[in-house]
Amino acid sequence: MTDQYAVIGNPVAHSKSPAIHAAFARQTGQDLAYGALLAPLDGFVETVRSFQRQGGRGLNVTLPFKHEAWRLADRHAGHAHAAGAVNTLVFDNGRTTGHNTDGTGLVRDLRDNLGCTLAGKRLLLMGAGGASYGVMEPLLLERPACLVVANRTVEKAVALVARFEALHASAAEGVAARAYAALVGQPFDVIINATSAGLAAEMPPLPRGVFADAALAYDMVYGTDTPFLRRAREEGARAADGIGMLVEQAAESFYIWRGVRPETRPVIQMLRERP
Ligand code: NAP
Repeated sequence: MTDQYAVIGNPVAHSKSPAIHAAFARQTGQDLAYGALLAPLDGFVETVRSFQRQGGRGLNVTLPFKHEAWRLADRHAGHAHAAGAVNTLVFDNGRTTGHNTDGTGLVRDLRDNLGCTLAGKRLLLMGAGGASYGVMEPLLLERPACLVVANRTVEKAVALVARFEALHASAAEGVAARAYAALVGQPFDVIINATSAGLAAEMPPLPRGVFADAALAYDMVYGTDTPFLRRAREEGARAADGIGMLVEQAAESFYIWRGVRPETRPVIQMLRERP
């Protein structure tokens, strides 16, 4: 029987994950089907369990269920431990394992696709939601000079930074939570927008003048030229959207499920040509 996988979220109809995994399956000759599951906001666990009872092998989890997926998992693997958020579930002999591949996807896109190494760089991460939790550990393991987290609701940035205290020494100049206004005059080499502001064509309140020379601006939002990316270009920075991260995190989930690593570049190109 063909192995069944899906992405679960609310909303989920817009998700590109079914097209990405179908492309991976064709490319690697894997016999699998991958669909989209809309879970009611108060019915995540029931929807997962029903998929599992029907023989489902694994799920990708998207907004707003990544923290709930962490609680649902019997055990956590890889970066999911630290993240407290799960985007990949594996069902095996009645056990549910939760992984988080978002950070691996981001770091691979930055490093392998965009040629941006993070070691020794000054990083700014905007946002303190589920996506930021998922990427903190992989970013710190790259040993940046510093990692500053800015968020509109500053207390959420403080809580995020505190959760990763055990890793603070990975950044020689430290890890800190800041209000946006406190960033004035501090240049960053890599600025990652992990807020959802771009989806509403909004710009986080990032002060002008924080892009260092040859800085990279990265917006996790994809499929739209966000105000953040436009501002970055205006200020002379290189700008990249999150399509590469999306494909790279999917490739890591595919590898976890199938033990086969798909080629990501042709799939990134496919999505750029047919958004
Ligand atoms: P989330 O948990 O809902 O968090 C949203 C974050 O955005 C919060 O920090 C929020 O600040 C901030 N925010 C929203 N509107 C803002 C505005 N106008 N100005 C400043 N800050 C604003 O969402 P998430 O799960 O972290 O996801 C964030 C984004 O990343 C989403 O757009 C998602 O699609 C994208 N994403 C992409 C990938 C990929 O593979 N490319 C993977 C994961 C996520 P407050 O705390 O102050 O409300």
